[in-house]
Amino acid sequence: MLAQVVVDVPTRQTNQPYTYAIPEELRQYVVVGMRVVVPFGQGARKVQGFVVGLLTTDLNGFDGELKAISQILDLYPIVNAELLKLSDWLANWTFSFRISILQAMLPNVMRAKYTRYLQLVDEVDDEILYGIFHGQERIIFDENTLTATSLAQLAKLRRNKQVVVTYEVTSKAKVKTESGIQTSLSFEQLEDIKLGLRANAKQQNKLLSYLQTLEPGEVVSQHQLRDRLALSNAVINTAVRQGWASKQPIEIYRQPSKTIVQPDQPKVLHSQQAKALQKIKAASGTPTTFLLEGVTGSGKTEVYLQAIDYELQHGKTALMLVPEISLTPQMMHRVKKRFGTKVAVLHSGLSAGERFDEWRRIERREATVVIGARSAIFAPLENIGIIIMDEEHEASYKQDENPRYHARDVAKWRSAYYNAPLILGSATPSLESRARAQKGVYQLLMLTERINQQALPEVKLIDLRQKIMHAKEQSVADELLVAIKERMAQHEQSVLLLNRRGFSSFVMCRDCGLVVQCPNCDIGLTLHMDTKTLKCHYCGHEEAIPTQCPNCRSKAIKYYGTGTQKVEIELQKLLPTARVIRMDLDTTSKKGAHEKLLKAFGNHEADILLGTQMIAKGLDFPDVTLVGVLNADTGLGIPDFRASERTFQLLTQVAGRAGRADKPGTVFIQTYNPTHYAIKMAQAHDYEKFYRYEMQIRHLAKYAPYYFTIKIQASHADERTAALMMTKIGQWLRQRLTAEVTILGPTPRSIARIKNRFYYQIILKYQNVPIVEQVMQELQLIAQANSRNGMQLIIDREPLNFM
Ligand code: ADP
Ligand code: ZN
Ligand code: ZN
Repeated sequence: MLAQVVVDVPTRQTNQPYTYAIPEELRQYVVVGMRVVVPFGQGARKVQGFVVGLLTTDLNGFDGELKAISQILDLYPIVNAELLKLSDWLANWTFSFRISILQAMLPNVMRAKYTRYLQLVDEVDDEILYGIFHGQERIIFDENTLTATSLAQLAKLRRNKQVVVTYEVTSKAKVKTESGIQTSLSFEQLEDIKLGLRANAKQQNKLLSYLQTLEPGEVVSQHQLRDRLALSNAVINTAVRQGWASKQPIEIYRQPSKTIVQPDQPKVLHSQQAKALQKIKAASGTPTTFLLEGVTGSGKTEVYLQAIDYELQHGKTALMLVPEISLTPQMMHRVKKRFGTKVAVLHSGLSAGERFDEWRRIERREATVVIGARSAIFAPLENIGIIIMDEEHEASYKQDENPRYHARDVAKWRSAYYNAPLILGSATPSLESRARAQKGVYQLLMLTERINQQALPEVKLIDLRQKIMHAKEQSVADELLVAIKERMAQHEQSVLLLNRRGFSSFVMCRDCGLVVQCPNCDIGLTLHMDTKTLKCHYCGHEEAIPTQCPNCRSKAIKYYGTGTQKVEIELQKLLPTARVIRMDLDTTSKKGAHEKLLKAFGNHEADILLGTQMIAKGLDFPDVTLVGVLNADTGLGIPDFRASERTFQLLTQVAGRAGRADKPGTVFIQTYNPTHYAIKMAQAHDYEKFYRYEMQIRHLAKYAPYYFTIKIQASHADERTAALMMTKIGQWLRQRLTAEVTILGPTPRSIARIKNRFYYQIILKYQNVPIVEQVMQELQLIAQANSRNGMQLIIDREPLNFM
């Protein structure tokens, strides 16, 4: 018996299964989908691998020596047949390695870790044995704990083959246990013990009676036993000492959310909702993709919930994706309210252990509804009946690092595999999805009315060009201040959005115009008032705010722009009685902070919720009747063909937070571009008009959804090398590809240097040119060959980020 193993060596050459022998003693355990440790390459270095196939052919004609699997890492398959198949497809689709996809499918804690050991293989003198090895034969090799002399001695020993370095693959995943109690005695034996007790041994009598009720082999949790019978630990421990019972660890799950949710019932659907649900139900068991285009507050979520319920009742499972669940705790609660303990939640706010436990609940089929962010698309659910992607237009569904997959592509693949409908929902669908619905590739479902027939909020534009606000350095216009005051008087609430954290807060010298830059990246540093420092958002560099210009020594250093902290201080001055909750990366970095702040706002502990983009999504507070956007324009200037689309989406989303219940809402948008179509159409709540207009622009400029795009990006620590490499790649591409493919570049990226690496990029645009796939695979090989000289190459299909 032979096993085919994909090894944890992500290179082009190793991107294929290798054949290994299965040693006799492992023969009955090795199955497809299990992780194993195998020797690999010249030095037979131990690496992790995934078994992707088994062969029963004997070794006819094979005269080389086949290496054997060293050990197994799992006791059961951790990647099922479907996900294995998916990994193969996705690796090709994203131009990445199969091993990278397999690793991405698992929760973090299960990803491979290697521990290095130093192993003595020969006698050494006592000085070394005790000085370095503490008298043991094997120690963990950690150069940080060893002195330079010790390291030199070790190097010599290694040369003399007295010591070897070994690698062991370890998994960080730990099962959490608590103490459990069981008994091996029979009912009668326990009865005899009871009869022998002293009359006043009531506690022990109670415990023995309880033990008599247990099935053979049944284990009960010690703390539950203690609570239920009001026993002390001492009584239990005595029973164990006497041999009446024994302790046995039992597995427990780390529960991510301790909040108890009140169950709720399905709502009676409004006619548009009912029609949409009807169509979805009718497509049950088919791989139909729906685009559910519904204005904010039109009840999309209720449709999702009832569609999930329908599939669960038919014995199927359901997968629901949300952009970033820690940003939308309300959505998670609504799903939990409806489906209770059937729900598993996967998101980045969980600790590694919690994530692992949720993952295992899914894998053991204890959870049948999964809600989570991007990577939850790989949840090991089987028998999927429906997949839902809420806010399908969100850029966070695309992973911006390797493997560069889009959750929507994976969702479509799984939908096809399981014959399960896929619902893409949004108030502002991506142009790609809306265009597919237009062509009939997706079925379009529309919800045009808000629940309770509530009108969409009135949107007023405040033209910043006419304001002397910047002269006064005021970031909230007077009209908006008046409106906030009115809301406060009526005990209603306001939401203020500041586009992007600290986007425009920087430090500039007024004498020479110097903006303090990051030493590692081509970008200005961002001012953080809480720590009184300047930070780089790309590499994390941090420094004190200078008191003197580093260039001209002038003391005229000044803070510019607006950050959330600055607005908060301004609000305190202008509206001294207003209670403000600020929500940005700084105030929400602690685990659970997000949820806490939103809960406080929901409980009316504040009049104003001030925050960055993270407040634009999914919030549903009935008393919010005013929304203010302080700077609508920051996104418009970004060199990206989706700049207008993103701006339109953001403004529509945040405007949708106002007037969701029975009170009408108002929105103020402060802008320098009051005539820009994205802003005008967001003001009119007219997605369809925006879609048609933007489609014309995309058509003229040859961009998505009319054209496919691939971004090729090379980086190197030396700028000249990076530029040269890209020029060569550009020439090569022009030879290999026909004129039907537009090749833009190479050009330096907008932020040309990040973390001291220089980036150059080429953009490909094409319609139906099958050879592109082939050429990209070839390019990967070339990139691999050049990686030794420090060049990194990224091939990004349908990039969402051009910066
Ligand atoms: P969307 O997801 O489209 O923004 P929601 O699903 O959040 O809209 O719905 C807005 C509000 O209307 C929510 O508070 C929701 O509970 C409520 N709602 C949705 N559908 C119904 C219904 N059929 N009857 C009563 N209330 C509903
Ligand atoms: Zn200066
Ligand atoms: Zn930096």
